[in-house]
Amino acid sequence: MTLEAETKAVVAKFDYTDEDVNKAVKEFLRQMGEGLEKDGTSLSQIPTYVTGVPNGTEKGLYMAVDLGGTNFRVCSIHLNGDTTFNLTYSKVAIPRELMVAKTAQELFAFLAKQIEVFLQTHHEEHFEKHKRRRLTVSTPEGFRDEEVFRLGFTFSFPVQQIGINKGTLIRWTKGFDIPDAIGKDVCALLQVEIDKLHLPVRVAALVNDTVGTLMARSYSAPGKTSTVLGAIFGTGTNGAYVEKLENVKKPMAGEYDKSTGLMVVNTEWGSFDNQLNVLPNTTWDIQLDKDSVNPGIQMYEKRVSGMFLGEILRLVVLDLLKNPNISLFKDENSSSNDWRSTTNIGEKSSIYAQWGLDTAIMSVAAADNTPELVTLRQALEALDVYSPSLEDAQAFKAIAGAVGRRAARLSAVAIAAVVLQTNTLTDPENEGEPVDIGVDGSLVEHYPYFRDMIYEALRVIEGVGEEGAKRIRIGIAKDGSGVGAALIALVAAGMEKSMSTADYIGEVRSTAKAHDLTAVPEDSEEAVTEN
Ligand code: ADP
Ligand code: MG
Repeated sequence: MTLEAETKAVVAKFDYTDEDVNKAVKEFLRQMGEGLEKDGTSLSQIPTYVTGVPNGTEKGLYMAVDLGGTNFRVCSIHLNGDTTFNLTYSKVAIPRELMVAKTAQELFAFLAKQIEVFLQTHHEEHFEKHKRRRLTVSTPEGFRDEEVFRLGFTFSFPVQQIGINKGTLIRWTKGFDIPDAIGKDVCALLQVEIDKLHLPVRVAALVNDTVGTLMARSYSAPGKTSTVLGAIFGTGTNGAYVEKLENVKKPMAGEYDKSTGLMVVNTEWGSFDNQLNVLPNTTWDIQLDKDSVNPGIQMYEKRVSGMFLGEILRLVVLDLLKNPNISLFKDENSSSNDWRSTTNIGEKSSIYAQWGLDTAIMSVAAADNTPELVTLRQALEALDVYSPSLEDAQAFKAIAGAVGRRAARLSAVAIAAVVLQTNTLTDPENEGEPVDIGVDGSLVEHYPYFRDMIYEALRVIEGVGEEGAKRIRIGIAKDGSGVGAALIALVAAGMEKSMSTADYIGEVRSTAKAHDLTAVPEDSEEAVTEN
């Protein structure tokens, strides 16, 4: 078979038809419903204890910290109340030895220290004033309650959330290993260390990045419309949406504000259809899963997100390379190469190594529409492919496009299912209004036409259609772990009001004690007078 014919055959295997898309939406809705009823289903549907979304009029100064894999980011966010905000930001690398410290206390003391440095650097006046006022006024720490910074804590490790600012660590990932922390409330761990430094900061909310994205978008989206879904299409994929409280049938352990009748639910949709009822499953998908660290799980994510798309493409390319009858990256002689050369692929090319193709090259392929595919060919040369011919580059572009297009259509499945689940298209109160969705991640940000391909699929989905697709407004929302986390801290501060501050602090302390953490200082050693 010629390379062109073989490429067509491969591309066809990545077709995900309109009919497939519709079937998948129905299954997605079914699995969403199942997840709302009980635990242990493929869509976890985790209640986040966030019971409302902002509308852009929120005001105030909040803090947010983000403990990701490599860095610890600290920021303060001034919400201006007119959908705009100002963000002050700092970032430090987490020392390797702290990732595997003996005790959680060592890591969290370091984090608290960074918060102190941030306050000294960026909020000196505020910080000094607090020092002077310490122990002279209302709260147990001695700060005027209204002057305590509320902090949103984005913690990107698996936690069992049991309240808006309470969640126990299930396990470490990404190279961290501090066994002592497992099962402890990460908010309490941080609060204890903050209190030791007598900082005017209260850990008000534990934040998942999808919820942060939802909140950030809802705050900054144009107009009055609130956002229904926050979704990530980056290394991984996941979404959080606004559900009616009455639809959350499974029991919820912690306290939450019931007055809004809403609950933000973290779907954990990366695990949609692990059972493969409707997901496509080519030989390359099977191979990728088999060679992954977690076979059989995150099956939707493995077909959609940035971590995996490049690998699917690589597996296809590898198969074509291995086939002696197909002329990918090889030429009979220099006359069959438009550059009058012969293509070679280096033995050490990362194309031969697992995870060797970064999904970013798919964006290069999609963006290059020049007649000779000059940019893509240069990118291939960087992978140690010498003199790729136009035909090679065309094949590569077509296959990458097919993998990307299938991912976009699968993304539309999740988006449409959430829109249909929330009835926002049919709700008379929302008539004529946009249905707003916030998205974040390299794939939606950088892959050309990714959103266009999502829309193309949305238009053919029953219950959405041309008219519905026009009303769905998908906008980029960065800063989920900054402004989004700050907004969740704001929601949480509102909830605190229904509990007295003393109760609130008492609760943090008792959690700390229950987990046998170092005691929270009951009073300060230095009495300082106010001037
Ligand atoms: P994170 O998910 O860690 O917040 P990103 O949203 O930046 O980070 O996503 C990183 C993922 O996106 C990686 O898997 C990477 O391969 C992929 N990626 C990076 N740049 C691009 C790009 N230009 N086009 C498509 N995918 C990309
Ligand atoms: Mg991200």
